[in-house]
Amino acid sequence: MQFGLTTEQQLLVDSVRAFVEVELAPYEDEVERTDKVRPELIRQIKDRALRAGFYAANMPEELGGGGLDHVALALMERELGRTGFALQYAVARPSNILRACKGEQIERYLKPAIRGERVECLALTEPNAGSDLRSMQTRAERQGDVYVINGTKHFISYADVADFIVLFAASGVEETAKGNKKRITSFLVDKGAPGLDVRLGPRSVSHRGFHHCELVFSNCPVPVSQILGEEHRGFDVANTWLGATRLTVAAQCVGRAQRALEKATQWAATRKQFGQTIGKFQGTSFKLADMATEIAAADLLVLQAAWKSDQGTVQDQDYAMAKLYATEMLARVTDHAVQIFGGMGLMEEVGVERLWRDARVERIWDGTSEIQRHIISRALLRPHES
Ligand SMILES: Cc1cc2nc3c(=O)[nH]c(=O)nc-3n(C[C@H](O)[C@H](O)[C@H](O)COP(=O)(O)OP(=O)(O)OC[C@H]3O[C@@H](n4cnc5c(N)ncnc54)[C@H](O)[C@@H]3O)c2cc1C
Repeated sequence: MQFGLTTEQQLLVDSVRAFVEVELAPYEDEVERTDKVRPELIRQIKDRALRAGFYAANMPEELGGGGLDHVALALMERELGRTGFALQYAVARPSNILRACKGEQIERYLKPAIRGERVECLALTEPNAGSDLRSMQTRAERQGDVYVINGTKHFISYADVADFIVLFAASGVEETAKGNKKRITSFLVDKGAPGLDVRLGPRSVSHRGFHHCELVFSNCPVPVSQILGEEHRGFDVANTWLGATRLTVAAQCVGRAQRALEKATQWAATRKQFGQTIGKFQGTSFKLADMATEIAAADLLVLQAAWKSDQGTVQDQDYAMAKLYATEMLARVTDHAVQIFGGMGLMEEVGVERLWRDARVERIWDGTSEIQRHIISRALLRPHES
């Protein structure tokens, strides 16, 4: 068992941290204030991320990506997590699901995404189908060589700035031992497709400057050549390529929690009340100790799941445990940080309330904490079920 980082891994951590400090962090206040990232700033960050080799670090080298393994990617995400989602978007790692592209799709979607020329968004969730994705109502009806899409997706991150959509829609029904089940197909849909309307969604408290959208499909034609993966096997594509996304969320939570701990420690070491620094009160110092311990535990879960991914032994519950623990840990750590700052913790200038607000969404997106618990408990109980 080897817990230390290699020289290359340490170099990666140091260089991504420096990149975040120099290229992203100085713009955090502007993004918070204006709730947007200027297009020219996105271009600047993207260009520098491409030059540094951070862009598309998750994609295979032979296609122009960084070819990083899961452990290296987790380390990178941990550092990127120190800042908010809106700025990180400019250092994008195209979704792994694009690896399912084949033939002409590779030239039209995958390679331009790796070069930073085209950006994707991922559309699964609907107003009536969140955790229960199989109940999605967006329909794809085949008419010859074209599927006609009707329905509404919501909460779709980055759809305002994306160039194309990885869309999941119900493409029929299959009979199974447990009754009829919807068949789901995944499609690549260009943003300008006829019959597609993209509307900005309501403002969220987490991650200012990053937006989500509602997508309305009204008789939107999509050629069968735009199917991603196999027809009717959309969930197979998602299960193959999206599991590691939970690890990305978890790794970023570790980075953000480390930042909250650093700020809280510094404050506790200098803020005086009753004639001594508040860090000398056990009520504060024990909080710091708990925060540090929980962050270290989450970090280990993340790196263990990443390591197992690289060994080819990872199971869904490994990702679920890392996501569940790291996101819940971040909520506790950022809440303690606000408490240690007292009233100042609620002031925007300090930046701790931002970490606390940003933490809230992590327990919801990419599968809520309750859904992660289902995944973990199902894996525990399955061998005992007849
Ligand atoms: C800012 C933001 C960005 C997002 N970006 C995207 C995106 O880019 N693409 C995309 O497709 N989706 C996106 N989502 C959607 C996100 O993945 C869903 O919000 C999430 O899966 C939960 O679905 P829901 O909000 O409909 O909640 P619901 O599924 O309605 O759940 C409500 C509550 O019920 C609980 N619950 C539901 N079922 C069970 C159960 N079986 N057992 C126990 N508890 C249960 C949940 O845990 C939750 O606490 C985004 C969401 C947000 C908030």
